[in-house]
Amino acid sequence: MSETIFAKIIRREIPAEIVYEDDLALAFKDINPQAPTHILVIPKKPLPQLDAATDEDEALLGHLLLVAKQVAAQLGLSNGYRLAINNGQDGGQTVFHLHLHLLGGRSLKWPPG
Ligand code: 5GP
Repeated sequence: MSETIFAKIIRREIPAEIVYEDDLALAFKDINPQAPTHILVIPKKPLPQLDAATDEDEALLGHLLLVAKQVAAQLGLSNGYRLAINNGQDGGQTVFHLHLHLLGGRSLKWPPG
């Protein structure tokens, strides 16, 4: 798999505003925020997209959701928030390292378009 910008963020080779880190996951501010709070939650394991996950990744995927919930609480999103995963071309994915978008801080529209 080719290297992504997120691998460089994990290794601190390019800067990011990191809001959470543990052995398995990293969360940092999106460089082009679509809401007052826009965080990317990523696994340190370089899974390119959700479609590449296997049964082996079941616990990791659950962990990412719990990290997202924890970061939402940490950032005061008590009024709600949205998690989104863009998978592949039609999903609008542009960076091929799995990531959860955590969006909040305003009332979000549905459907997202
Ligand atoms: P995707 O379109 O793949 O679902 O989301 C990729 C996200 O990564 C976009 O929201 C984009 O703004 C963000 N992004 C791309 N490059 C960088 C970067 O270098 N730093 C940060 N913090 N976010 C980035």
